Amino acid sequence: MKIAKFIDKKPFVIAGPCSAESQDQLLQIATNIKSSVDVFRAGVWKPRTMPNSFEGVGKLALSWLKKVKDVTGLQVATEVATAKHVELCLESGIDMLWIGARTTVNPFYVQEIAEALSGVDIPIFVKNPIHPDLSLWIGALERLNNKGITKISAIHRGFFTYESSAYRNDPKWELPIDLKRNLPDLPIICDPSHISGNIHLIEEITQVAMDLDMNGLMIETHNNPSEAWSDAKQQLTPKQLINILDKLVLRKKNFEDSNLNNELNFLREKIDILDSDLVEKLNLRTSLVKDIANLKLENNITIFQLDRWFQILEERQNQALRNSMDPKMISDMFKLIHKYSILTQSKIMNK
Ligand code: PEP
Ligand code: MN
Repeated sequence: MKIAKFIDKKPFVIAGPCSAESQDQLLQIATNIKSSVDVFRAGVWKPRTMPNSFEGVGKLALSWLKKVKDVTGLQVATEVATAKHVELCLESGIDMLWIGARTTVNPFYVQEIAEALSGVDIPIFVKNPIHPDLSLWIGALERLNNKGITKISAIHRGFFTYESSAYRNDPKWELPIDLKRNLPDLPIICDPSHISGNIHLIEEITQVAMDLDMNGLMIETHNNPSEAWSDAKQQLTPKQLINILDKLVLRKKNFEDSNLNNELNFLREKIDILDSDLVEKLNLRTSLVKDIANLKLENNITIFQLDRWFQILEERQNQALRNSMDPKMISDMFKLIHKYSILTQSKIMNK
């Protein structure tokens, strides 16, 4: 992919309300945050889960964003979901656009947007798809890139999960890390507002994003959050936003001191040895799983025995607790090991 650099500071901050509600509202927020942010955001067309919710002011709000740009000098951004949205935004001089999580999932829409943007040289941000599918995210970025859009960036806004979670959208940090591994030059912006779903986790998520070397932040900010027409629970006041940005710690990428560097390398070598042991142990475990599968096959027994699985899960979690480890980490790990154990057994038993 040909990626052009358009973000040259860290963190690059995009902030503003979830939805544009009135010209005054936008001007008030923008004036309050303008010295701390790089781009002002506001949703004009809102993809809502339920019909009859507020679906955005629409086209009229584009002129309000233009006004914000003229009055404050801030660059402005909004979400597009169709070619028509793109056309209207370009006519109104919107500086940057983003594709929302509900749109990234649909290759037809992404393609339509990419075509409407061809020949246009403005920055486009692609939010992760709602579910954790890295290829779909990369595919959307590629569709844009194929139409000559090079100022592209990804926005990590977390992923839908059925599991109970402290987050509205589970961060699954391994996905943006994998994205960076696939596309090292692609800037990634973290959206702690949609990950968190409330204002309490935003500071922590923002710091994690910086520690993971993400390039920027998109944070929803409203002059009167509790009265917001959408996402009321997760929007910060301008003052709260500025406070969080001021407290952010930007850590260095490497140690300058060579002794510290040696110590880090020493610890990493120990980790490498342990990881290699883990893989060898998993290999031994797989051999035992295969022996069990053959035994079950010869004696006509089902692959999956519920009691045995519950017993494994409970014992391993208790062991974790005895070691003051997070039992969820261990149960997540064993769920994965168990999934592959069933796959290995079913291959043997169904051949
Ligand atoms: C938004 O940014 O307001 C929005 C709708 O986000 P997402 O697409 O991440 O849900
Ligand atoms: Mn929102």
